Amino acid sequence: MSHLSPALLSIGLLATTLVAQSPAPKTAPKAIDPANLDTSVKPCDDFYQYANGGWLKRSTIPADKARFGSFEELADRNRDTLHAILEETSKRTDWKKGSIEQKVGDFYASGMDAGAIEKLGAAPLKPWLDRIEAMRGPKDLAKVLAAFHGARAGGGGFGLGVAQDAKNSTQYIVQLNQGGLGLPDRDYYTKDDAKSKELRTKYLAHVARMMVLAGEDPLDAGAHADAVMLVETRLAKASMTRVEQRDPQKTYHKMAMSELVQLAPQFDWSAYLKDRGILKLEAVNVRQPGFFKEFGALADQLTLAEWRSYLRWHAISSAAPYLSRAFVDEAFDFNSRTLNGIPQQQDRWKRVQAVLDTPSALGEAAGQLYVKKAFSPESKQKMVVLIENLRAALKEKIIALPWMGEDTKQQALKKLAAFGVKVGYPDKWKDASKIEVKRGDFYGNIMRARAYETRHNIERLGQPIDRTEWGMTPSTVNAYYSPTMNEIVFPAGILQPPFFDANADDAVNYGGIGAVIGHEMTHGFDDSGSQFDADGNLKNWWTDADKKAYERRTDLVVKEFDAFKSMPDQNVNGKLTLGENIADLGGLKIAYAAWQKSLGSMTAEPIDGYTGPQRFFLNFAIIWRNVIRPEAQRVRLNTDPHSPGQFRTIGPLSNLPEFFTAFGCNDGDAMKRAEDVRPSIW
Ligand SMILES: [Zn+2]
Repeated sequence: MSHLSPALLSIGLLATTLVAQSPAPKTAPKAIDPANLDTSVKPCDDFYQYANGGWLKRSTIPADKARFGSFEELADRNRDTLHAILEETSKRTDWKKGSIEQKVGDFYASGMDAGAIEKLGAAPLKPWLDRIEAMRGPKDLAKVLAAFHGARAGGGGFGLGVAQDAKNSTQYIVQLNQGGLGLPDRDYYTKDDAKSKELRTKYLAHVARMMVLAGEDPLDAGAHADAVMLVETRLAKASMTRVEQRDPQKTYHKMAMSELVQLAPQFDWSAYLKDRGILKLEAVNVRQPGFFKEFGALADQLTLAEWRSYLRWHAISSAAPYLSRAFVDEAFDFNSRTLNGIPQQQDRWKRVQAVLDTPSALGEAAGQLYVKKAFSPESKQKMVVLIENLRAALKEKIIALPWMGEDTKQQALKKLAAFGVKVGYPDKWKDASKIEVKRGDFYGNIMRARAYETRHNIERLGQPIDRTEWGMTPSTVNAYYSPTMNEIVFPAGILQPPFFDANADDAVNYGGIGAVIGHEMTHGFDDSGSQFDADGNLKNWWTDADKKAYERRTDLVVKEFDAFKSMPDQNVNGKLTLGENIADLGGLKIAYAAWQKSLGSMTAEPIDGYTGPQRFFLNFAIIWRNVIRPEAQRVRLNTDPHSPGQFRTIGPLSNLPEFFTAFGCNDGDAMKRAEDVRPSIW
């Protein structure tokens, strides 16, 4: 997420912008299609393969994708729905000026105008590069960074945003976050294995090529790329790891302006903040003090030439996807082909849509047109019922927990009751009226939308918390829990098959969207979310004994996932994925309990030869099926807090007695873990 709001805990990776499509196909696929199974495998040996083997064998990854599975399949449908809307809207030029249709249509048209973009070449970058060139000394660094950050035009170094104060969730506070790297994670700079070294060599060549495209002398570009690597490596070494950052206490360091100045005195904070529109800094949360100490040292120690190289690179790389073909191709070559193994670039319309459909561009404006076509009030009503059934099931589970004491239980129940719920799309849409959108000015449109967004973010300081905001656009195939809002959010985009199907039986829906709802609820009680109370404050509500009992259980989850071999030379990182794995296991249990409760005295009749419980677990496995390129898998293992789909299926299921019963698993079967190593938390 932008603006450093304490991480939203989602069901899938947030990185890709997933968009949507026209009327749902008339011939909806069968919820459970026998052709997708592999019945040569025993369900108790490998349920992922059993449930998905047929599909996995048949499925190929589209040339322009890193991964393809249930999430991507639905995202493609949603994207086509939105595409039809954008095509239609952009064809008309007689919309009322300032209307949603005019803005969305002209933004899309400007992105599709390849001729105009090509003609500009590197021109949109020029004012930024001139600004860097005009720096006369390290003193100018603060002003230049403020300009870049305010416009979200690159800049690097670090990030500043306004978000809820984790220990006083009714107030916004300025947050400073580490940043400024061009590779996906700090470890890419620090690891010494052959693959990491090779990647760094390729990165250096890529940086140099980009600089040449932006007009630098090829004879200098190599040395300038070396300077970039020097700066980024120092920033990387001072950066917190992803695992460290999962603990919200470790990223909470509220301080006064004077303390910030003491921490990094070499940087002109007053000048920087003034230019960001923050005239008086009451307090700031410096999420990673060690990083900022090093940043201050760099402000002093680097030469002006080194700073210029570093800043140029971040300006170029940030703008590249929106510039002429040569820039787009070079950015694709490294970020998609080299890093993620994707052989082919997406068509222009897909890329333009991805830029448009984000919360910080025109995602909510487009979302208003999207939900009119693709979302019914009945779906919303059904979801609300499902959510309340799951809330009731989790409540019963908490009350019955054998390992948690009464005092902690009361607090947990209070938190559960306080969960806010958002379904489909915002009740109050984000105001896009101040964003000027013009045909023929793609780069300008993007920059105006971003400038508005950063300004709006800063202007929240001192204002009451806006509880109407959404962190995802309506067509997104994802969902999230926000610990400081203490709310669960489900965009319209995920409320479709295979997650949610108005025509499917309840077992299938509870195994799909039910597990997703349970997942988001459990985030409120995972190793990180459980540190926040009912009001969204980072405040301990656990007795020591209960916390210890909880950690004994979560340690078993870490061990279980650490042992999963995802690639010949790389296992899942149990600590990085702990929160998501807790959420998957808890979500599944709660969904199953809620489904059982909904049956009352009835029993689910078998359909197509599968019992109700079997259909529940089959659809759970279906939502996690995917095929992925090895390069992309490697990036995800290093950066994604979610485990690979295969382990999101077999990991939780092999701990679940309800699953053993449904498929008749016996002691010793691979999918039935021994009781002493089986985590049972919620
Ligand atoms: Zn999650």
